[in-house]
Amino acid sequence: MARVAVVTGGARGIGEAISVALKDAGYSVVANDINEDAAKAFTERTGIPCYTWDVSDFESCKAGVAKVEAEIGPVEVLVNNAGITRDGFLHKMAPEQWDAVMKVNLYSVFNMCRNVMEGMRARQFGRIVTISSVNGVKGQAGQTNYSATKAAVIGFSKALAAEGAAKGITVNCVAPGYTDTEMVRAIAPDVLKGIVETVPVKKLCSVQDIARAVVFLAADDASTITGATVNVNGGIYMQ
Ligand code: NDP
Repeated sequence: MARVAVVTGGARGIGEAISVALKDAGYSVVANDINEDAAKAFTERTGIPCYTWDVSDFESCKAGVAKVEAEIGPVEVLVNNAGITRDGFLHKMAPEQWDAVMKVNLYSVFNMCRNVMEGMRARQFGRIVTISSVNGVKGQAGQTNYSATKAAVIGFSKALAAEGAAKGITVNCVAPGYTDTEMVRAIAPDVLKGIVETVPVKKLCSVQDIARAVVFLAADDASTITGATVNVNGGIYMQ
Protein backbone atom coordinates (compact mmCIF):
# COMPACT_ATOMS: atom_id res chain seq x y z
CA MET A 1 0.00 0.00 0.00
CA ALA A 2 1.27 3.46 -0.89
CA ARG A 3 2.01 5.65 2.10
CA VAL A 4 -0.37 8.60 2.55
CA ALA A 5 1.26 12.03 2.39
CA VAL A 6 -0.44 15.35 3.21
CA VAL A 7 1.04 18.60 1.89
CA THR A 8 -0.37 21.82 3.35
CA GLY A 9 -0.68 24.85 1.09
CA GLY A 10 -0.20 22.32 -1.68
CA ALA A 11 -2.28 23.83 -4.48
CA ARG A 12 0.38 26.07 -5.93
CA GLY A 13 4.01 27.16 -5.81
CA ILE A 14 6.44 25.03 -3.84
CA GLY A 15 3.59 22.98 -2.34
CA GLU A 16 2.34 21.94 -5.77
CA ALA A 17 5.85 20.80 -6.77
CA ILE A 18 6.17 18.82 -3.52
CA SER A 19 2.76 17.19 -4.06
CA VAL A 20 3.63 16.18 -7.63
CA ALA A 21 7.10 14.92 -6.66
CA LEU A 22 5.69 12.78 -3.83
CA LYS A 23 3.05 11.37 -6.19
CA ASP A 24 5.76 10.57 -8.75
CA ALA A 25 7.71 8.83 -5.95
CA GLY A 26 4.74 6.53 -5.31
CA TYR A 27 2.94 8.18 -2.40
CA SER A 28 -0.82 8.54 -2.14
CA VAL A 29 -0.82 12.34 -1.91
CA VAL A 30 -3.52 14.61 -0.52
CA ALA A 31 -2.90 18.32 -0.83
CA ASN A 32 -4.52 20.86 1.46
CA ASP A 33 -5.23 24.48 0.65
CA ILE A 34 -7.39 27.33 1.93
CA ASN A 35 -8.63 28.48 -1.45
CA GLU A 36 -11.44 26.40 -3.06
CA ASP A 37 -10.78 27.66 -6.61
CA ALA A 38 -7.03 27.06 -6.36
CA ALA A 39 -7.71 23.58 -4.96
CA LYS A 40 -10.03 22.67 -7.86
CA ALA A 41 -7.64 24.00 -10.49
CA PHE A 42 -4.75 22.08 -8.87
CA THR A 43 -6.70 18.79 -8.92
CA GLU A 44 -7.60 19.33 -12.60
CA ARG A 45 -3.90 19.96 -13.40
CA THR A 46 -2.40 17.12 -11.38
CA GLY A 47 -5.09 14.53 -10.62
CA ILE A 48 -4.18 14.88 -6.91
CA PRO A 49 -7.07 15.40 -4.46
CA CYS A 50 -6.97 18.70 -2.59
CA TYR A 51 -8.98 19.20 0.61
CA THR A 52 -9.65 22.73 1.80
CA TRP A 53 -9.15 23.82 5.38
CA ASP A 54 -7.41 26.63 7.22
CA VAL A 55 -4.17 25.36 8.77
CA SER A 56 -4.08 28.31 11.18
CA ASP A 57 -7.15 26.92 12.97
CA PHE A 58 -6.74 23.91 15.27
CA GLU A 59 -10.28 22.54 14.91
CA SER A 60 -10.14 22.85 11.09
CA CYS A 61 -6.90 20.83 11.08
CA LYS A 62 -8.44 18.21 13.36
CA ALA A 63 -11.44 17.85 11.03
CA GLY A 64 -9.23 17.93 7.91
CA VAL A 65 -6.90 15.19 9.16
CA ALA A 66 -9.90 13.09 10.27
CA LYS A 67 -11.44 13.43 6.78
CA VAL A 68 -8.19 12.42 5.05
CA GLU A 69 -7.78 9.42 7.38
CA ALA A 70 -11.40 8.30 6.85
CA GLU A 71 -11.35 8.69 3.06
CA ILE A 72 -7.73 7.93 2.07
CA GLY A 73 -5.88 6.38 5.01
CA PRO A 74 -3.66 7.19 8.00
CA VAL A 75 -1.31 10.13 7.48
CA GLU A 76 2.24 8.78 7.41
CA VAL A 77 3.99 11.74 5.81
CA LEU A 78 3.16 15.35 6.70
CA VAL A 79 4.67 18.29 4.84
CA ASN A 80 3.99 21.63 6.55
CA ASN A 81 4.39 23.94 3.59
CA ALA A 82 1.63 26.59 3.89
CA GLY A 83 3.11 30.00 4.61
CA ILE A 84 2.48 33.70 4.16
CA THR A 85 4.39 36.97 4.40
CA ARG A 86 3.14 40.29 5.84
CA ASP A 87 6.36 42.26 5.55
CA GLY A 88 7.23 45.57 7.14
CA PHE A 89 9.89 47.08 9.38
CA LEU A 90 9.10 46.38 13.04
CA HIS A 91 8.67 50.07 13.91
CA LYS A 92 5.79 50.19 11.43
CA MET A 93 4.41 46.65 11.84
CA ALA A 94 0.77 46.33 12.93
CA PRO A 95 -0.11 43.66 15.50
CA GLU A 96 -2.35 42.12 12.81
CA GLN A 97 0.69 41.57 10.53
CA TRP A 98 2.50 39.84 13.38
CA ASP A 99 -0.49 37.67 14.35
CA ALA A 100 -1.37 36.58 10.81
CA VAL A 101 2.16 35.31 10.14
CA MET A 102 2.38 33.58 13.54
CA LYS A 103 -0.91 31.79 12.95
CA VAL A 104 -0.32 30.59 9.39
CA ASN A 105 3.41 29.85 9.59
CA LEU A 106 3.86 28.64 13.18
CA TYR A 107 0.57 27.73 14.87
CA SER A 108 -0.26 25.66 11.77
CA VAL A 109 2.75 23.45 12.43
CA PHE A 110 1.50 22.68 15.95
CA ASN A 111 -2.08 22.28 14.66
CA MET A 112 -1.09 19.74 12.02
CA CYS A 113 1.59 17.84 13.97
CA ARG A 114 -0.64 17.55 17.05
CA ASN A 115 -3.35 15.92 14.95
CA VAL A 116 -1.10 13.33 13.26
CA MET A 117 1.40 12.58 16.02
CA GLU A 118 -0.68 10.17 18.11
CA GLY A 119 -1.41 8.02 15.06
CA MET A 120 2.22 8.06 13.95
CA ARG A 121 3.35 7.01 17.42
CA ALA A 122 0.80 4.19 17.54
CA ARG A 123 1.89 2.91 14.10
CA GLN A 124 5.61 3.47 14.91
CA PHE A 125 6.23 5.32 11.66
CA GLY A 126 6.10 8.94 10.54
CA ARG A 127 7.86 11.52 8.40
CA ILE A 128 7.31 15.23 9.11
CA VAL A 129 8.99 17.87 6.96
CA THR A 130 8.40 21.58 7.56
CA ILE A 131 9.31 24.28 5.08
CA SER A 132 11.39 26.92 6.87
CA SER A 133 13.31 29.64 4.98
CA VAL A 134 16.80 31.03 4.59
CA ASN A 135 15.33 34.16 6.19
CA GLY A 136 14.56 32.16 9.33
CA VAL A 137 18.11 30.89 9.42
CA LYS A 138 19.92 34.20 8.81
CA GLY A 139 17.28 36.89 9.59
CA GLN A 140 15.95 39.42 7.09
CA ALA A 141 15.15 43.12 7.51
CA GLY A 142 11.45 43.78 7.03
CA GLN A 143 10.57 40.25 8.12
CA THR A 144 10.80 40.07 11.92
CA ASN A 145 7.47 38.23 11.95
CA TYR A 146 8.34 35.84 9.10
CA SER A 147 11.94 35.21 10.27
CA ALA A 148 10.67 34.52 13.81
CA THR A 149 8.26 31.84 12.57
CA LYS A 150 10.76 30.25 10.21
CA ALA A 151 13.38 30.05 12.99
CA ALA A 152 10.78 28.76 15.44
CA VAL A 153 9.80 25.81 13.25
CA ILE A 154 13.45 24.67 13.29
CA GLY A 155 13.49 24.60 17.12
CA PHE A 156 10.07 22.96 17.16
CA SER A 157 11.26 20.27 14.75
CA LYS A 158 14.35 19.46 16.81
CA ALA A 159 12.24 19.07 19.96
CA LEU A 160 9.64 16.92 18.21
CA ALA A 161 12.42 14.89 16.55
CA ALA A 162 13.67 14.03 20.04
CA GLU A 163 10.16 12.99 21.09
CA GLY A 164 9.56 10.85 17.99
CA ALA A 165 12.99 9.27 17.54
CA ALA A 166 12.29 6.04 19.42
CA LYS A 167 8.92 5.66 17.67
CA GLY A 168 10.15 5.58 14.06
CA ILE A 169 9.18 9.20 13.44
CA THR A 170 11.60 11.67 11.86
CA VAL A 171 11.07 15.43 11.94
CA ASN A 172 13.10 17.73 9.70
CA CYS A 173 13.05 21.11 7.96
CA VAL A 174 13.92 22.28 4.47
CA ALA A 175 15.02 25.92 4.30
CA PRO A 176 14.65 27.30 0.75
CA GLY A 177 16.43 30.38 -0.53
CA TYR A 178 15.04 32.58 -3.30
CA THR A 179 12.81 30.23 -5.25
CA ASP A 180 11.27 30.71 -8.68
CA THR A 181 7.62 31.13 -7.64
CA GLU A 182 4.90 33.67 -8.51
CA MET A 183 5.92 35.73 -5.47
CA VAL A 184 9.53 36.06 -6.64
CA ARG A 185 8.52 36.55 -10.29
CA ALA A 186 6.44 39.56 -9.19
CA ILE A 187 9.65 41.39 -8.18
CA ALA A 188 10.71 44.11 -10.70
CA PRO A 189 13.11 42.53 -13.26
CA ASP A 190 16.04 44.83 -12.45
CA VAL A 191 15.64 44.21 -8.69
CA LEU A 192 15.39 40.44 -9.29
CA LYS A 193 18.53 40.55 -11.46
CA GLY A 194 20.33 42.21 -8.53
CA ILE A 195 19.09 39.52 -6.16
CA VAL A 196 20.23 36.70 -8.43
CA GLU A 197 23.70 38.33 -8.63
CA THR A 198 24.01 37.84 -4.85
CA VAL A 199 23.34 34.09 -5.09
CA PRO A 200 26.61 32.14 -5.46
CA VAL A 201 25.11 29.70 -8.02
CA LYS A 202 23.75 32.75 -9.95
CA LYS A 203 20.23 31.43 -10.31
CA LEU A 204 17.02 31.02 -8.34
CA CYS A 205 16.16 27.65 -6.81
CA SER A 206 13.46 25.85 -8.77
CA VAL A 207 10.39 24.53 -6.98
CA GLN A 208 11.59 21.06 -8.02
CA ASP A 209 14.88 21.65 -6.15
CA ILE A 210 12.90 22.15 -2.94
CA ALA A 211 10.61 19.19 -3.66
CA ARG A 212 13.62 16.90 -4.22
CA ALA A 213 14.87 17.60 -0.69
CA VAL A 214 11.42 16.89 0.77
CA VAL A 215 11.10 13.56 -1.08
CA PHE A 216 14.57 12.60 0.17
CA LEU A 217 13.63 13.29 3.81
CA ALA A 218 10.24 11.56 3.45
CA ALA A 219 11.74 8.27 2.26
CA ASP A 220 11.46 5.16 4.44
CA ASP A 221 15.23 4.71 4.31
CA ALA A 222 15.91 8.28 5.54
CA SER A 223 15.18 6.83 8.98
CA THR A 224 18.30 8.19 10.71
CA ILE A 225 18.05 11.76 9.42
CA THR A 226 16.12 13.65 12.09
CA GLY A 227 16.20 17.10 13.66
CA ALA A 228 18.03 18.35 10.57
CA THR A 229 17.56 21.44 8.43
CA VAL A 230 18.44 21.00 4.77
CA ASN A 231 19.39 24.31 3.19
CA VAL A 232 18.41 24.56 -0.49
CA ASN A 233 19.50 28.13 -1.19
CA GLY A 234 22.09 28.26 -3.97
CA GLY A 235 24.83 28.89 -1.40
CA ILE A 236 23.41 32.27 -0.30
CA TYR A 237 23.86 31.27 3.34
CA MET A 238 26.07 28.41 4.48
CA GLN A 239 25.71 27.04 7.99
P1 NDP B 1 2.61 30.42 -2.23
O1 NDP B 1 2.01 31.67 -1.66
O2 NDP B 1 2.85 30.33 -3.70
O3 NDP B 1 1.77 29.14 -1.77
C1 NDP B 1 1.37 28.98 -0.44
C2 NDP B 1 0.08 28.21 -0.46
O4 NDP B 1 -0.39 28.10 0.91
C3 NDP B 1 -1.01 28.92 -1.25
O5 NDP B 1 -1.69 28.01 -2.07
C4 NDP B 1 -1.89 29.49 -0.15
O6 NDP B 1 -3.25 29.67 -0.50
C5 NDP B 1 -1.76 28.41 0.92
N1 NDP B 1 -2.18 28.92 2.21
C6 NDP B 1 -2.01 30.15 2.74
N2 NDP B 1 -2.58 30.25 3.94
C7 NDP B 1 -3.15 29.05 4.19
C8 NDP B 1 -3.92 28.54 5.27
N3 NDP B 1 -4.21 29.30 6.35
N4 NDP B 1 -4.37 27.25 5.20
C9 NDP B 1 -4.08 26.47 4.13
N5 NDP B 1 -3.36 26.92 3.07
C10 NDP B 1 -2.91 28.19 3.10
O7 NDP B 1 3.99 30.21 -1.41
P2 NDP B 1 5.35 29.53 -1.88
O8 NDP B 1 5.11 28.34 -2.71
O9 NDP B 1 6.24 30.60 -2.37
O10 NDP B 1 5.95 29.10 -0.44
C11 NDP B 1 5.68 27.82 0.15
C12 NDP B 1 6.45 27.74 1.45
O11 NDP B 1 7.84 27.95 1.20
C13 NDP B 1 6.03 28.80 2.47
O12 NDP B 1 6.07 28.25 3.78
C14 NDP B 1 7.10 29.87 2.30
O13 NDP B 1 7.24 30.63 3.47
C15 NDP B 1 8.31 29.00 2.02
N6 NDP B 1 9.41 29.69 1.32
C16 NDP B 1 9.21 30.24 0.06
C17 NDP B 1 10.27 30.86 -0.59
C18 NDP B 1 10.10 31.46 -1.96
O14 NDP B 1 11.08 32.03 -2.49
N7 NDP B 1 8.97 31.34 -2.61
C19 NDP B 1 11.60 30.95 0.03
C20 NDP B 1 11.67 30.34 1.34
C21 NDP B 1 10.61 29.73 1.94
P3 NDP B 1 -3.72 31.01 -1.30
O15 NDP B 1 -3.86 30.60 -2.71
O16 NDP B 1 -4.99 31.42 -0.66
O17 NDP B 1 -2.66 32.07 -1.09
